[in-house]
Amino acid sequence: LIQLYIPLNFLGVIYREIRQALTDIERMFGLMNQHREIADAPDALTLPPGPASVRFEGVGFAYDAKRPILFDLGFDIPAGSTVAVVGHSGSGKSTLARLLYRFYDVQQGAIRVNGHDIRQLSQDSLRAAIGIVPQDTVLFNDTLFYNIQYGRPGASREEVEAAARAAQLENFIRQLPDGYETRVGERGLKLSGGEKQRVAIARALLKNPAILIFDEATSALDSRTEKAIQAQIERAAEGRTALVIAHRLSTIMDADEIIVLDGGRIVERGRHGALLASGGAYAQMWLLQQEEAATDATPG
Ligand code: ADP
Ligand code: MG
Repeated sequence: LIQLYIPLNFLGVIYREIRQALTDIERMFGLMNQHREIADAPDALTLPPGPASVRFEGVGFAYDAKRPILFDLGFDIPAGSTVAVVGHSGSGKSTLARLLYRFYDVQQGAIRVNGHDIRQLSQDSLRAAIGIVPQDTVLFNDTLFYNIQYGRPGASREEVEAAARAAQLENFIRQLPDGYETRVGERGLKLSGGEKQRVAIARALLKNPAILIFDEATSALDSRTEKAIQAQIERAAEGRTALVIAHRLSTIMDADEIIVLDGGRIVERGRHGALLASGGAYAQMWLLQQEEAATDATPG
């Protein structure tokens, strides 16, 4: 019995740690209290570190069988390139991010990373390869240092500071009396939306993943802060495989492919210039946002 007990106890410890990590990530996704039935395949492969390509292949998905959300979705993100997804609220954009991170399994088709169906990969190795900058970053009631280091627990002081520098947090942190030791979150210093986004970007940079997902990472920001963050996002995405879910189209003009989702279907796809020229849904969204920007800029 002892022989059985020791490994089981050991697994229990690992399970609790993983469980905690997942809980934290789920909080970032706002998915708390949702049951998960995702398990590793018995012969799951470990995704080795290194550049990664992503492919959605005829993906169909429903949270609830009665209400399908995504229909026959296919696109490729070659390693090192950027695909942007735009579309109205509720069109299924964040669902794509959740499926790639494998919070849920697809019901039709497959999602592949480096050609492997992600259901055949160990969840740990899949998730180690993906960094997410979510729409609403959750900060822990702890120090700034802890909150950034969370991107890669165990990272050295130098690594944490380098990530903060790259995410343009350094000047902000330097003017705080307690610097990196400043407590933030609900019971500490309240950070602005822009500062929280930069913490999220620093976390993602520290994690140094092959695949980066930005889920409307700039939607809550004013346009000046957005421009500053945008530059950081582009720098972060350089050389990585990126899925950028965008609210403002001005942020994704340089994407290698732009996908327009409507009601869970791809209704248009292409590069910015071609989509504008074709005068379809994307061009309409673009015009609307240009008008809004002009109105915002008008004094009085
Ligand atoms: P977007 O990010 O484009 O705004 P989402 O991918 O978040 O859209 O949601 C797509 C659709 O799926 C919406 O109709 C939403 O109500 C629904 N949905 C999102 N999350 C869940 C969930 N956990 N359970 C059931 N339905 C959901
Ligand atoms: Mg969303």
